[in-house]
Amino acid sequence: QPVLAVVGRPNVGKSTLVNRLLGRREAVVQDKPGVTRDRVAYDALWNGRRFTVVDTGGWEPGAKGLQAAVAQQAEMAMSTADAVLLVVDAQVGATATEEAVARVLRRSKRPVLVAANKVDDERTAADAAALWSLGLGEPRPISGLHGRGSGDLLDAILDVFPEVPHEQFGATGGPRRVALVGKPNVGKSSLLNRLTGEQRAVVDDVAGTTVDPVDSLVQLDGEVWRFVDTAGLRKRVRTASGTEYYASLRTKAAIEAAEVAVVLIDASEPLTEQDLRVIGMVIEAGRALVLVCNKWDLVDEDRRHRLDKELDREMVRARWAERVNVSAETGRSVAKLAPALRTALESWDTRIPTGRLNSWLSDLVAASPPPVRGGKQPKILFATQAHPRPPTLVLFTTGFLEAGYRRFVERRFREEFGFTGSPVRISVRVRE
Ligand code: GDP
Repeated sequence: QPVLAVVGRPNVGKSTLVNRLLGRREAVVQDKPGVTRDRVAYDALWNGRRFTVVDTGGWEPGAKGLQAAVAQQAEMAMSTADAVLLVVDAQVGATATEEAVARVLRRSKRPVLVAANKVDDERTAADAAALWSLGLGEPRPISGLHGRGSGDLLDAILDVFPEVPHEQFGATGGPRRVALVGKPNVGKSSLLNRLTGEQRAVVDDVAGTTVDPVDSLVQLDGEVWRFVDTAGLRKRVRTASGTEYYASLRTKAAIEAAEVAVVLIDASEPLTEQDLRVIGMVIEAGRALVLVCNKWDLVDEDRRHRLDKELDREMVRARWAERVNVSAETGRSVAKLAPALRTALESWDTRIPTGRLNSWLSDLVAASPPPVRGGKQPKILFATQAHPRPPTLVLFTTGFLEAGYRRFVERRFREEFGFTGSPVRISVRVRE
């Protein structure tokens, strides 16, 4: 689903306009100085088309001043959105800040629209025209207050969105997709609430009166993430969602809809079969994996050692996972989640050039050739990484390679190229 980023100085009426675009007044809280806003993105629907509105407000003018802060918004908007909407107070006109932002936006390959806000009557219509000077095309006069012009603006926005892209992850440049999974009571809801912060209450009110959105858009560490299928986690009173079988189907679907899975375990309790099953689902689905050991506030020295042992013994298939120890209750180390997600996704996205791959492989094979089978020495001729997401290595050989040797190749491949947080697949094609 395409993403629209809304950029503008404080007090140009950005939040009012966003509320207009969303068609509901409660959705966005006021910009309050000193309050960082965790949740900045909202689902919108116009003419049957769904899109995401990212309100880039909430950045405080830092040491470098307002101009730098707004320019940073614009940079962020350009890197995450399919289109950018610059909101200008037409009654004030283009200030030095807008000119600086316009310079950044003109370099952008994304479409940019200029909303000339506070054009409340005919008298101020000329103010809108003056904004041609920004060099970003036709200024669109609107009145956030009266709602005038917002329909035309929405039409124009839909026009500039790229055509619906094929179902390739990341192809839209939209927020990355995260599944928050784990057996019951490990603290998924608590963690989601912790990540979304105070916005939660506001959003719950809205969810009660409109259609319940299935995903949560959450800003972590300056980036917007899409937590998929969190509807069940957001409700305070959760419906007993039937059998474990259905819960497991839902977990599987969430993992498949995501690029990276955050698997929560209760670190204060022994690891169970059910935990391992969820981890297994992530590996099978070929998604990046971040293991979150929650309830760390309840973990003492003794338990910590035992958990390390359990993980060491049981996680043989996923030693490469990123791991963070957090407490959703106290907030401890929750800030480490976003960097872990980034590392895992970066690995998941990686493609090793064929040349580099083969020079590494020929050294490896020369030093440790595959074991002889049936009197024959299989040769590895060539390797290529067929694709990322998940990284998949194809080995072209003259004969079958034993599972033990494949694991050895994978281990060495990881030692050489990293891939922390991502599964790696190795397939063998035997050439006759
Ligand atoms: P979910 O079923 O995975 O969504 O789990 P919940 O978020 O509902 O949490 C289950 C229980 O664990 C609740 O009573 C939470 O208050 C508690 N809990 C969650 N995270 C923590 C934590 O980090 N520390 C402690 N001590 N309790 C937690």
